[in-house]
Formats: sequence, C-alpha cells, structure tokens
Amino acid sequence: RPPFDVNLIRRDFPILGERVNGRPLVWLDNAATTQKPQAVIDRLAHFYRHENSNIHRAAHELAARATDAYEEAREKVRGFLNARSANEIVFVRGATEAINLVAQSWGRANVGEGDEIVLTQLEHHANIVPWQQLAAEKGAKLRVAPVDDTGQILLDEYARLLGPKTKLVAFTQVSNALGTITPARRMVELAHAAGATVLVDGAQSVSHMAVDVQALDADFFVFSGHKVFAPTGIGVVYGKEALLNATPPWQGGGNMIRDVTFEHTEYHDAPGRFEAGTGNIADAVGLGAAIDYVTALGMDNIARYEHELLAYATRLIRDVPGLHLVGTAADKASVLSFTLDGYKTEDVGALLNKEGIAVRAGHHCAQPILRRFGLEATVRPSLAFYNTCADVDALVAALYRLAGSRNPLRS
Ligand code: PMP
Repeated sequence: RPPFDVNLIRRDFPILGERVNGRPLVWLDNAATTQKPQAVIDRLAHFYRHENSNIHRAAHELAARATDAYEEAREKVRGFLNARSANEIVFVRGATEAINLVAQSWGRANVGEGDEIVLTQLEHHANIVPWQQLAAEKGAKLRVAPVDDTGQILLDEYARLLGPKTKLVAFTQVSNALGTITPARRMVELAHAAGATVLVDGAQSVSHMAVDVQALDADFFVFSGHKVFAPTGIGVVYGKEALLNATPPWQGGGNMIRDVTFEHTEYHDAPGRFEAGTGNIADAVGLGAAIDYVTALGMDNIARYEHELLAYATRLIRDVPGLHLVGTAADKASVLSFTLDGYKTEDVGALLNKEGIAVRAGHHCAQPILRRFGLEATVRPSLAFYNTCADVDALVAALYRLAGSRNPLRS
C-alpha cells in the first residue's frame, strides 16, 4: 500500500459507503465519534466467536484466551501512548469516567480546603463538572486560564494562576469546540514547577497526533476509545505507576482485591485496583485492534495529511459570505467551528444533513469557551484521516447554497 492513499483507506470503513437522503454520506462529525474500520469490527466478532469469557486466566481455555486478548490490548495502549509500563494503563468506560475516577480517587485523597484546581476556558464539560463537584465537597477553588481571541491559551495568564495553593491542573490537549492544540508540554512543565499534579485530557488529540506521555510528562492522561476508531464504552486512564499505587481505589468490588474479610480489604496494585467488576473486555480488545490500525498508517502520516486537509478546508470555508470562523489559533487539529449569518446553527446542521453531510451543531458540551466568544452554539465540522478534499468541497458547496451565493469552486 502506498504511504497514504485515502481512497484505499476509505475502503476499510464500510459505513463510509452509506447513503443518506439519497446522497453519499459525508462524515464530518469525527470530534463526536469516529467510524470503525473493518479490522475493529472483525476483531469484536472474533472475540465473541472464539474467545469470550470472563478474565480469570486459570479457570479454563476460553478464560485464558480472553485474559490474553485483554492484556494484549493493554500492552497496545501502553505502546500507543509510550507509557513506561502496562501497569500504568487502566481501562474505564471513556474519558468522562476517566476524569471522574481521578477526581473521586486521587482528588478526594489530595485536595483539601483552600486548595486550588486550575482549568482552562477550553475545557469540555467532562473536564469541568467533576472538578466542580470535588471543589464543592472539599472547599477547594477552581481557577480558569483564559484564551486569546484566536482561542489559544494565554500562557502568561495561565502561569500567573499557578502557585503554592495549586493542587491540580487539568486541561485539554486539543479543544473539541475550536480545535486549538494547547502548548501542553510547556503547561505541564509550568504546573510541575508550581508543585501541582497534572491531568491532560487527550479525548481529541489521540486520533490526530502521536502522543508520548513520557515526553509530555503528564501525571494522568485520559482518552475515549470511540474517538480513535474503537468501539464505544471503552477508555483509558494513564497514570504514572507510583502515583496510581499511592491513589486509593474508586469503586470497590470483585477483581480489584487481593484479600477480603469483613474487617479489612487489601487492594491490588494498579491497574487492577481501579478495575472493579467485569469490565468491557471485548471493546478493550477492539481498542487494541484500532490502535494496530492507526499505528500501521502511522500517527505522523495521519497528522501530516490532516494538517493539509484542515488548511485546505479553512481556506475555502472562510470565504463563504456571512460565515464566521471561531477558533483561529495557529496550532489546530481537525475542527472548524463557525456561525452563518441568517441561520440558527441547528438549521445549518439540519440542512446539511439533507445533503448527506453530518456535522455537529450546538454547544459541543463546552459552553464556557463558546460564551467566551459571545456564542451559545456553533456549527462544527470535524475531520479525520479518511476525509478527503471532496468531502470538504461538498460541505463548502452546500454552505455557498445556504449563503445564497455562487460558489467560486463551481465557476
Ligand atoms: N473531553 C473532550 C475534549 C471531549 O471532546 C470529550 C467528548 N466530546 C470528552 C472529554 C468526553 O468523552 P466521552 O463522552 O467519550 O466520555
């Protein structure tokens, strides 16, 4: 296969052949969720046909197969993030559960009255509400780093918020609402210099760029499988091993214990101590297959291709009359967020859907950042590596029709 042949790649995703309202599907809602390659669909079927069991390795043959498949998936996630050890990879339901786990376990044990938690204006509600709940319980305070008019973090303002009271800093690597790529490495460094622990939300970054948690040096890093071509219902908390083992468990139950009496329970080390009960075994295995798939394409190849496609889309879309792009940072991935004069955002979404074009219209679970720009909602097409210039052209042509103007592409 040639290095990056998007037309060949598209054949790996059966759903991209769907027709919607009589038109070929144009899937531009990748920030909400991504489509699944045949390899992931096949891996799930293979698991249920040949390996399905609960994961108690020693019990019998299928238990051994299921346990091996599950632990191989954990090792694939380790490699994908370049974590030091597979013990640093905890399987959860998704980024939301991952952040709640850290807030309810590490947070409850380490954040106290008068402590400060630093977030940014870019955060998804999943990286706001759990900290708000923790702060309310503990009498801690949230501080919020602002962005400039392009939607990029104001690093000086961010640095000014950090101090001896800062217990935790939690921020996104890529904004789901604007596409801003934050200066994550630098932000982690500044937070550590202030003595804070750092959680990086990778929900929107892992599908668009290579992530190396050791280079990033985040203490916790979270993501959702479904946004990186894997099934729903599976996600990951990465945590530095010593930190995870010093953190109390969150949920209690089977699998996470070494020994239980009515008086006392001894917990496993990480990752087992955070995986109470029967987890999402098949979908973890599916995540492993998705990681194999993107690794074969090469995350750097994906990033390069998408960067060009986003630049192409940005050039075309910003010339549509009455269209206002929100989020124009120099470093961006995947997302184009905009409003169109004369239309409610949900009407733009519905009209595009009539032409088979899937975008998100709304607040994208990130109301604070939209309000920073005086908005309650935007239209948000978002790209993945299987999108093409033809997808972008279809979107832009439809927007010119809505704007009531002649599309220069067609002239
Ligand atoms: N953080 C960010 C930046 C996101 O975009 C999302 C999903 N939109 C989440 C967290 C939450 O992910 P999930 O809904 O898969 O738990």
